Amino acid sequence: MTEERRAQLEAGLADVREQIADACRAAGRSPDEVKLLAVTKTFPASDAILLAGLGVTDFAENRDQEAAPKAAEVALALPDTPVRWHMVGRMQRNKARSIVGWADEVQSVDSPRLAAALAKAAAGARTRGSRTEPLSVLIQASLDGDPERGGVPLSGLLELADEIGRSGELILRGVMGVAPLSMDPRAAFELLSKAADRVRSDHPTAVELSAGMSGDLAVAIGQGSTCVRVGTGLLGYRGLASP
Ligand SMILES: *Cc1c(COP(=O)(O)O)cnc(C)c1O
Repeated sequence: MTEERRAQLEAGLADVREQIADACRAAGRSPDEVKLLAVTKTFPASDAILLAGLGVTDFAENRDQEAAPKAAEVALALPDTPVRWHMVGRMQRNKARSIVGWADEVQSVDSPRLAAALAKAAAGARTRGSRTEPLSVLIQASLDGDPERGGVPLSGLLELADEIGRSGELILRGVMGVAPLSMDPRAAFELLSKAADRVRSDHPTAVELSAGMSGDLAVAIGQGSTCVRVGTGLLGYRGLASP
């Protein structure tokens, strides 16, 4: 069972790394510039453990309830392997305290109120000694203003960036976005990339552009993505009942 799954994940990883390398070559970029996040949502901790054994260092989840025990299980199984967890989903402010307990980075910050809740939770964790570092965050931008998917509209991006910049507990690392189904992905990522450039010119730490998933990672890399978030292409289909 495990051997079979390991072989599947190894093949998925080789395929995704090849896609990243091809896209980087086509864009005249180095593959070192693009970080791979394995999106393990709906998959068991055992898959993350196998992927870590294959050299994956960064994992992403979209629900606190699922991620907190999964990250704990991985840490228990691999005490000497440093892995980083990234929150990429919508969240309620009352989850901030739990999220700062497992997430090294939150990519889906889309309101001042959420940023304030995360800053407060991160400060509390530092006081308790359960965190030593400020929390890294990315602002999730919305390209079509769809309130269901989350993200701040591009018109509010700079204001939120300034707000986060004033917080001593949060480090603004960049901008994250998802290409809306209604848009051509290339046009969507170009827009996102320009918005990220504007944020970066005011906030030098905001160097990351998290863009591209299984279906559109090559297009995103062509538009300057520094971080692709890949679930299906690495782990297989999540199934109909899954979020
Ligand atoms: C699920 C998810 C992904 C991964 O999507 P795939 O199409 O399976 O690669 C990436 N980003 C976010 C925000 C997600 O929720």
